[in-house]
Amino acid sequence: NLDAVEEKKGEDLEGKIEVKGGKGTANVGYFINKKLHVWCRLSNGMWASGTVQSTSGEESIVSLSNGNVIKVCTSQLLPANPGILEGVNDLIQLSYLNEPSVLHNLKCRYSHDMIYSKAGPVLIAVNPFKDVQIYGKDFVTSYREKATDSPHVFAMADNAYNEMMNDGLNQSIIISGESGAGKTETAKFAMQYLASLGAFGNAKTSRNDNSSRFGKLIDIHFTASGKISGANIQTFQHYIRFYLCCHVLCLMWMLFVTFEQSRVVQLAAGERSYHIFYQLCAGASPALRERLNLKMANEYNYLVQSDCLVINGVDDGQKFQKLKEAFDIVQICKEEQEQVFAMLAAVLWLGNISFQVIDKENHVEALADEALTSAATLIGCAPHELMQAISTYRIQVGKDRIAKKLTLQQAIGTRDALAKFIYASLFDWLVEQINKSLEAGKKHIGRSISILDIYGFESLKDLEGIDWSKVVFEDNQECLDLFEKIELELGLTKKPLGILSLLDEESNAPNSTDFTLANKLKQHLNSNSYFKGDRGRAFGVLHFAGEVHYDTNGFLDKNRDPLSSEVVQLLSSCDSQLPQLFAKKMFNQPLQSITSLDTTMQSVALQFKGQLFKLMHQLESTRPHFICCIKPNSKQLPGTYEEDLVLQQLRCCGIFEVIRISRSGYPTRMTNQAFSESYLILFLLSEPIVSQDSLSISVALLKQFNVLPQMYQIGYTKLFLRTGQISALEDRRKQV
Ligand code: ATP
Ligand code: MG
Repeated sequence: NLDAVEEKKGEDLEGKIEVKGGKGTANVGYFINKKLHVWCRLSNGMWASGTVQSTSGEESIVSLSNGNVIKVCTSQLLPANPGILEGVNDLIQLSYLNEPSVLHNLKCRYSHDMIYSKAGPVLIAVNPFKDVQIYGKDFVTSYREKATDSPHVFAMADNAYNEMMNDGLNQSIIISGESGAGKTETAKFAMQYLASLGAFGNAKTSRNDNSSRFGKLIDIHFTASGKISGANIQTFQHYIRFYLCCHVLCLMWMLFVTFEQSRVVQLAAGERSYHIFYQLCAGASPALRERLNLKMANEYNYLVQSDCLVINGVDDGQKFQKLKEAFDIVQICKEEQEQVFAMLAAVLWLGNISFQVIDKENHVEALADEALTSAATLIGCAPHELMQAISTYRIQVGKDRIAKKLTLQQAIGTRDALAKFIYASLFDWLVEQINKSLEAGKKHIGRSISILDIYGFESLKDLEGIDWSKVVFEDNQECLDLFEKIELELGLTKKPLGILSLLDEESNAPNSTDFTLANKLKQHLNSNSYFKGDRGRAFGVLHFAGEVHYDTNGFLDKNRDPLSSEVVQLLSSCDSQLPQLFAKKMFNQPLQSITSLDTTMQSVALQFKGQLFKLMHQLESTRPHFICCIKPNSKQLPGTYEEDLVLQQLRCCGIFEVIRISRSGYPTRMTNQAFSESYLILFLLSEPIVSQDSLSISVALLKQFNVLPQMYQIGYTKLFLRTGQISALEDRRKQV
């Protein structure tokens, strides 16, 4: 039963070459026959297409499309799709779903500026790094009128809008991808489309496009008649990456977390800190400079750590003027703007504060220099108060609290934590202001479309933060369980037992290391069938797509956020309004963790946990739509498609699994007309033509070539085929 075997082959992710040998047994010789179009892995790891010339089982002679003829191990060959399937809209239509075929299909589309493709329900967007002219009013109109079915973020936004209007269900558009993959741009286009459907006022211009150093959830609210009534932006201080791989029955969450906050004080080579700092340094007027005692960017330690101070073609000074205009639009008054800039300057000056060792135990004190004075003045306290706050901590001895000096490393940590805290609080405050100004039309009836622009991290090698890469959960509950399982112990006590709380516990344990953390995770989570903890410092998480490995290297350090109560106390007693506000917010947060030495307020994991749960709860009630953004090269160049880089991202976001699941139906769709035109030639050779209409010709063709009834469905205009069928017909056509 060739068809059944064909089907099995098509279902297989790798398109295993053995199965076509009849009854699923290996018979390489039969499959790798002459003329077969294949992908051939070259010694440099790249895939090249070619045609098999001859084969002796173990080895085959392949004539490559570049004219070379090579001898390769047959096991290095994978079947390629027939030319008729080149550049299909939806990857699920491919007859052979192996990695080179998917890569080639996306590349082929990309080279024609078709940056969007579907993978079943997921939209893939490959960053063009150039203006592709597909977002104009004419495009909005044709997607609104359904004049085109070519994949596009507009099509997805339109779909979400229609489902919201028809079913009354809230929708979400969840955008994921590495840093620079195009999430924010994509979110903007989705908003642009939705905005074109209703009245959106100024909101479009109110965001600074370049500052997406925080995850964002943008809710757009609609009236009953479908007009936009308001919007709301929420931020997440930390990277939260959700990858949703969706199937009719199966919804999987994949989570990526890493902590963006550290970017204020720690930069990787070639990477800039938040753009706003450079813009302020470049664009501030002489008067503002004087008031803030502002220097140029290259005089601030936080900014010079990397060798990257300017971006080619970007005028920071001009951007600063744009930012001020945006502030005006969202009604942040001039006085408040001045305070915002003062906070930014304070962060920069904090980074220049240095310490001197004052005793044999390596304890330090901050130097009373320009940096200390400037930072103190900007936040509104006396220099000695700031010095005290970043050079000491208090411990509880009996009933008394005693001040102790910090070591150099601790003092730097405290200083940096203060800088990060001010920056993060400032950002939150700004978002709050923007939301207030958008609130005018907020009375909505509860229908909304949320666009989640999740923070991307630089690459999988990024050690900047904790990277819970590729944790996949089959549903939300599994996700919650692995991160935080609340178990009833001793009858009443609720004891959380999940990766996050274990991480917290271990962060506060004396002498803990990455190894003790790994051991602790193993000890507590080994009973969880998704957890595999048997390899030293690393552990594995078993998920739908296979097992993924995690290295605990640096987890503990990243989780300890040494924001001391001294520092928050200092801010609350400052003369300036913003620092007071920031401190008040911090004090109002429930302190759930009992931490060592009373120096930490809320650990990073704990903060994240709160945000994560809130977000999951919020999105749970919506119907999700997924966009997976792909960065085709790391140089931000147009027309450059690095296969390895793309492959790694496709694997990460689970695209292959999505395709595999989605294909289980009838993935190949063709109009009867196209089908009959393509294969009429085969038909004519064997039997005289009886009917002229394409439906009848298609039916006759399917019969003629013994395509089993369970392998297709035929409609008036379209033919739906199971995986691998087209490829079988193409093979036969070749043999004619
Ligand atoms: P991060 O996670 O760092 O915030 P991101 O995924 O949000 O990154 P974007 O800022 O959206 O990335 O995109 C990076 C750059 O890629 C943009 O500044 C723009 O130049 C380009 N880009 C992305 N998408 C498109 C697009 N659809 N058309 C043209 N250029 C694009
Ligand atoms: Mg972004």
